[in-house]
Amino acid sequence: MGGSKNTKLVIDGKRVDGRTTDELRDIKIVTGVIPAADGSAFIEWGGNKILCGVYGPRECIPRHGASPYKATLKCRYMMSPFSSLEEHGRSGPSRRSTELSKVIREAFENVIILERFPNAQIEIYLDVLQADGGTRTASLTAATVALANAGIPMRDMVAAVAVGKADDILVLDLDKGEDNLGQSDMPVAMSMRDKKLLLIQMDGLLTREEIAEMLDMVENGCNKINTIQVDALRKHYENNGEDNFTW
Ligand code: ADP
Repeated sequence: MGGSKNTKLVIDGKRVDGRTTDELRDIKIVTGVIPAADGSAFIEWGGNKILCGVYGPRECIPRHGASPYKATLKCRYMMSPFSSLEEHGRSGPSRRSTELSKVIREAFENVIILERFPNAQIEIYLDVLQADGGTRTASLTAATVALANAGIPMRDMVAAVAVGKADDILVLDLDKGEDNLGQSDMPVAMSMRDKKLLLIQMDGLLTREEIAEMLDMVENGCNKINTIQVDALRKHYENNGEDNFTW
């Protein structure tokens, strides 16, 4: 944060990777990639590669964790030891992965119709194979597709993207360089029909006006992301739901 004086992240409205300020990185999603799972999705979002597997609804184990009123949602976000140069081969849970698992679970607790499956559990597993900034939002986006592929009833679809500020300019979908060197970062997840905010986190300093403008940028971005999510599902079912790992 703070941005080093000699690192320019935005020059003449173009970012380091050539994007305009409100342009998303390339996003590809395929679903049905793990036949043994009830639902799955693989997302490539810029330099991020994330695999999501969904299991359930199935019996809640351990039983004492079960609720007679609704399904228990479990979410485990994990980075592979080789997902980024920073990780140095460290594996297993960390404070960060625990936090991300929690915020992703809480976002989905608001859209999955958990009351329909008392005593059951639904599990969402997210493995980040390669990380390049924005893995929590890419994870939320992929998990939505995997949940739909598993046939889990949801009130709405979820799309997510981060927006931030670099060189005093608002930019959508920060990559890792922008995240590390920019002034502010605000990941947001949104329900697509009623445009409610399911997750919003932020660091850095922002004015109210900036936040309002950033939320508009997020909404436009999420509309585009949702088209890609729906296309992935459509493509899968047009192939009669056969497992298919071609873009
Ligand atoms: P997000 O991935 O949602 O942007 P952060 O803001 O915590 O989450 O991290 C930004 C980026 O920094 C990540 O996407 C990843 O590329 C890198 N990163 C952060 N923490 C770690 C870590 N513990 N190990 C490896 N890479 C990390």
